[in-house]
Amino acid sequence: MSFPEELDHLVRTDEPLAPLVWLGIGGPARYFAEPVDEQELSKVYKAADEAGMAIRILGGGSNVLVREAGFDGLVISLAAAATSELVIDGNRLTAGAGAKLSHAVIKSVGAGLGGLEHLVGIPGTVGGAVIGNASNGGRDIGSVVESITIIESDGSTRVISQEDAGFSHRKTTLVGMGILKTTFLLEPRDVSALTKRMQKLWIGRNSSRPSEQRRIAMPFVDPDGMPAKDLLQSCGLAGVREGDVSLDSAHPHYLIAHNEATSDQCLRLIERVREQVLLQTGVDLQLNLQIW
Ligand SMILES: Cc1cc2nc3c(=O)[nH]c(=O)nc-3n(C[C@H](O)[C@H](O)[C@H](O)COP(=O)(O)OP(=O)(O)OC[C@H]3O[C@@H](n4cnc5c(N)ncnc54)[C@H](O)[C@@H]3O)c2cc1C
Repeated sequence: MSFPEELDHLVRTDEPLAPLVWLGIGGPARYFAEPVDEQELSKVYKAADEAGMAIRILGGGSNVLVREAGFDGLVISLAAAATSELVIDGNRLTAGAGAKLSHAVIKSVGAGLGGLEHLVGIPGTVGGAVIGNASNGGRDIGSVVESITIIESDGSTRVISQEDAGFSHRKTTLVGMGILKTTFLLEPRDVSALTKRMQKLWIGRNSSRPSEQRRIAMPFVDPDGMPAKDLLQSCGLAGVREGDVSLDSAHPHYLIAHNEATSDQCLRLIERVREQVLLQTGVDLQLNLQIW
């Protein structure tokens, strides 16, 4: 397949994905594009769809495991300035999907708007957080979403409401769709009180995460009633290892890719852990991590 000539400058082939994902492993994308604006995005989406190609948007790569074979389709990054803009208008923040979640949190707090501060320290982009309904401390991002602009496979866009996104615990019904931007409806609050709250949450998060580990992922969704961390600990799975991949021994809800880690080892460890948890507790641990 080849893209129309006008997109030649935009689409790269066999682009390594490992440097773009937190786990630092996995094969290349057959095609990769970083459109500069919505118009380019729309053209590349349409061309890929007409060719029957699978399309994925890559955010910060903190929740993706790429298989060794790579991804046989088009991977799109929305990191360009036009697709990662943050605009405040009254009590609303509109964020391009490629904006870093941390930037959106800091901007809203700095403007005295509350509602996103509990998400401080969650890695990745606004698009990645919205599609997976990222949450912390029992509060999710979906609760402050007002509307979302979606890109359709034919390259056209449409705006949907919070209700249409089907937000539930670490899930939406938007899987397979492209998020272009999101408008959050926030609450006016005192800036210094909000800033203090954000700093406190940030310190708490840092102390509950493996320090000095960069190649990590949070593979499981907390099941009802119990944090995955406690469940894994009680099943004796802290520190469990498969090849060069392990669950952290102090914070077992984090998976760590060591030097020679492979995607196959990650998948084997995840399956082993799920089997053990099911056997010992009857809980069917659901995956948060997206496998490409
Ligand atoms: C150290 C660490 C701590 C974490 N803590 C938390 C936590 O407290 N709470 C929590 O909920 N999660 C947490 N996570 C998981 C992860 O950070 C979140 O799921 C995050 O929101 C993913 O965003 P991302 O931009 O990195 O998405 P990516 O990893 O790039 O993508 C994840 C999925 O979203 C899709 N996607 C990304 N952008 C778009 C878009 N614009 N349109 C459509 N689909 C898109 C991708 O195709 C992929 O399927 C943590 C992960 C790590 C490594």
